[in-house]
Amino acid sequence: MQALNISPGALPPEAEALRAEVRAFVAEHLAGFPVRERVRNWQGGDPAFSRRLGERGWLGMTWPRRFGGHERSSLERFVVLEELLACGAPVVHHWVAERQSGPLLMRYAPDTLAPEIVPRIARGEVSFCIGMSEPDSGSDLASIRTRATRADGGWRINGRKVWTSGAHRADYMIALVRTRDRSEDRHAGMSQFLIDMKTPGFTIRPIINQVGEHDFNEVTFDDVFVPERQLIGVEGGGWQQVVAELAFERAGPERFLSSTQLVLEMLDAADPADPRQAVAIGRLTAQYAALRQMSVAVQRMVARGEDPALIASIVKDQGALLEQSIPDVAHDLFGGRVEPDSTLEQAMTYLTLAVPSFSLRGGTREILRGIIARGLGLR
Ligand SMILES: Cc1cc2nc3c(=O)[nH]c(=O)nc-3n(C[C@H](O)[C@H](O)[C@H](O)COP(=O)(O)OP(=O)(O)OC[C@H]3O[C@@H](n4cnc5c(N)ncnc54)[C@H](O)[C@@H]3O)c2cc1C
Repeated sequence: MQALNISPGALPPEAEALRAEVRAFVAEHLAGFPVRERVRNWQGGDPAFSRRLGERGWLGMTWPRRFGGHERSSLERFVVLEELLACGAPVVHHWVAERQSGPLLMRYAPDTLAPEIVPRIARGEVSFCIGMSEPDSGSDLASIRTRATRADGGWRINGRKVWTSGAHRADYMIALVRTRDRSEDRHAGMSQFLIDMKTPGFTIRPIINQVGEHDFNEVTFDDVFVPERQLIGVEGGGWQQVVAELAFERAGPERFLSSTQLVLEMLDAADPADPRQAVAIGRLTAQYAALRQMSVAVQRMVARGEDPALIASIVKDQGALLEQSIPDVAHDLFGGRVEPDSTLEQAMTYLTLAVPSFSLRGGTREILRGIIARGLGLR
């Protein structure tokens, strides 16, 4: 069996120094930002806040300067993410773009699309959505049917994507589509395109989630024309590219820090003399500490240019389990005694409804466990 090496270690002084700066920034810019909004965590957004982060140099922190980046370390970036997530900052406007679209474009379109688009991501100006899942293709992404066919000067795309978070707010989508018929190698014949959401032929229909919010969409492509230069990487290379993109998507601390506002509310409401509360909240804190150590280890691997997919999958799987348990702990400790519409009640209600999705988005629990088993040499 393959060894699982996790080497966490402390954060370097420059990363810790940055923490104070980020805390001062959020104290200034998010004063009075209500818990009702903070609980949405990285699902809530404000384009102006994203632009302010861009002005501070806190987007694209690790990217080369020629792409508008700041050439700082992934551990410094980790501290910024951690602080923003811990206070439930409204970051969704830039989140997908900064986490995965920018890195994907720099890797696979460094001379064509990246110089034009990526500096705008680093300035917090543009929002991206992910066009992977389809009505009959979620976990089995290789079974997608949305199809691009050659046209004069580019491609025409027809098909349907579903569960597309933020499509109604996004400027661009990176879509995985089929450019050749399915062959025996089911991972062949797929490609990725950068698509401007204002292109004629898109229909975006809202899907209301169980929290009652409009986040997801169904997106229909009806002869959407995409110029040749917006093909990302090589035609037919979409599968390898999308696997790399999913590694960016799964590697961040948002995968265990989405229920934090409820833990903070519990801490505020807790009675220090109540041993049952102390044990329950202490147990959550210990789980957070272990996941954080592993998440720091993921960032160290990224910094060394190593593939963090195995540990990142463990953090996401275990992080979702922790986050999904937190509303139950809150109900157990405080249920029946919570003041209606108090901030504790707001956080409990929102997260009770939101957490089931945490083990679906970005890859389901079963899929991640398959990746973990493969990484450990068990399958
Ligand atoms: C909050 C949220 C946001 C999302 N945002 C986006 C987005 O922006 N863009 C996008 O493209 N998609 C998005 N998705 C879709 C998400 O990626 C899919 O829901 C996910 O990949 C699962 O696909 P599915 O829903 O088709 O479920 P299915 O693949 O049908 O799975 C159903 C169940 O079967 C299990 N299962 C499936 N295959 C196997 C297997 N081989 N072995 C064992 N068990 C298996 C799954 O684990 C799951 O429990 C989002 C989903 C959520 C919940």
